[in-house]
Parts: sequence; structure tokens; C-alpha cells
Amino acid sequence: VTEKGLDRSKILGVGIGAPGIVDYNRGIILDFAIAHQLVDIHLKDYLWERTGWEIAIDNNANTRALGEYWYGFGAGCQNLIYVICSEGVGNGIIIDGKVLRGKNNFTTGLGHMIVNSDGRLCNCGRHGCIEAYSSTEALEKNTQEALKNGLKSLLLEKAGTQFEKVDYSLICHCAEAGDSLCLQMLEEAAYYLSIGLSNQIGSFNPELIVLSGTLFDASATFFERVKTLTLEKIFSPLAGGVIIKKRQVRDNLYEVGAATLVFKSFFND
Ligand SMILES: [Zn+2]
Repeated sequence: VTEKGLDRSKILGVGIGAPGIVDYNRGIILDFAIAHQLVDIHLKDYLWERTGWEIAIDNNANTRALGEYWYGFGAGCQNLIYVICSEGVGNGIIIDGKVLRGKNNFTTGLGHMIVNSDGRLCNCGRHGCIEAYSSTEALEKNTQEALKNGLKSLLLEKAGTQFEKVDYSLICHCAEAGDSLCLQMLEEAAYYLSIGLSNQIGSFNPELIVLSGTLFDASATFFERVKTLTLEKIFSPLAGGVIIKKRQVRDNLYEVGAATLVFKSFFND
């Protein structure tokens, strides 16, 4: 604030979207998704004591869903699901204009929805979670494993036998060039995510699903396959008509969504 020369009296508060499990009411990050050794971070109190500003913290999928709801594709729509596929998989759900939180504010756990009970081992210790297929980390791990098992791919020309160099962006690049292994790995990632999404459509009847994250940014094929496979699986006619869109990369809705937490608190809504 000092560096930018901002007027402190014009700052209403600070809104934060954090990856992981967040106790929204108390402003505590219970489990920080990108550094699991960090638990029970009392960020709200910490920042309030040092600034005196109103501080509001939520899971980043929820804040991104709020950004989309207020100012993005969701403007005018009351029911939406916002999905992130990056190092992990998560989602924020808005129903009847409100963030769906549940008892522990953990309706963002799409990544650990089991979609294949005999399937791949997930970081959480269980088998067949969406995150074991559709995160960038899983895509890399599963593709590297296929290469170690001797499957042929354009990836071998790019990375040689240094399989650890095979990252999600190289996989997506080779898939766009028509490499069959890369296409197969993206198809697997899309397939299992689509099971989870179609189940959520059946459960929540959203008008809109926004797909975001580095994996969607890296691969148009992945987006198209997730969209097609999800729409194919929708059971109830009531769930039909849902619109599936990809997040516009160059927007600032991440930040705006977090800021709306403060507006909400300010207006006591
Ligand atoms: Zn899991």
C-alpha cells in the first residue's frame, strides 16, 4: 500500500482466496494445498492485528466462483460451478446466488471425488479420485509412467529418456501435434473429470460451468473433450441446457472475486 501510494482510509478491507481447506468463518487456513506442512494458519487474525482492516479469507475456488458470478460469465445467472484443474483439482459452487459451503466449507473437494474405486492411487491415500487423473501433477506422473513402461511417443524425441522433463505443457503440445499417447492421457484425464462433473450437474442443476486452470489454458483439446464427455453423461432432462465455458485467461476475476468477500461483509449480506 505504501509502495503504491494508496490512501489507507479508502481501503475497506482485504479479501483473500487461498488454495486448500479454509475455515471461512474464523479466517483460518486449515490445510494449505500447495504446502501441506502449513496447517492452522490464522491468517485473518494475523493480518487484522497488523493492519486493522477487515480481512476475509475463503478457498480460492469459492472466490473465483464469486468473481465469475458477479462480473464474468455468471453475471445474471444464479447457479454455477467453477472448476480449477491445475496442480490440484477443486471447485466452487454457487447455488441460488450463494456460495455453497456445507458444515466445514469444504464443498470444494471435487478433486477427491472417487470416480474409479479400483483406479490410480491419489495423493490423499485413496484410489480413483479425480485428482489422480485430471491434475497437471497426475497427468505428468501417469504419462511418465507410461513412457517408463515402453510406450512410444513424440515425447521421447523431445525429452529423451529424461522422463522427469515431461511436463503437462509438453504433453499438451504433443497432443495438439497428434501424438497418440499424449491424446490418450488427456482423454483419460478428461473422462474421469467428466464423470465428476456430470454427477455434480445431476446433484446441483447449475446453469453454467466454468472450467479454468493451467491444464485448460494449455490444451484446447482437453477442454473440448471434457465438455463433450460431460454433456454426453448428463442423465436427467432437468440438468440439460447447462452451458460449459472456459475461463477467459486475461481477466482479473481471481482478484475481484476475493474482493467481493469484503463487500459482502461490509454490507452485512
Ligand atoms: Zn484423493
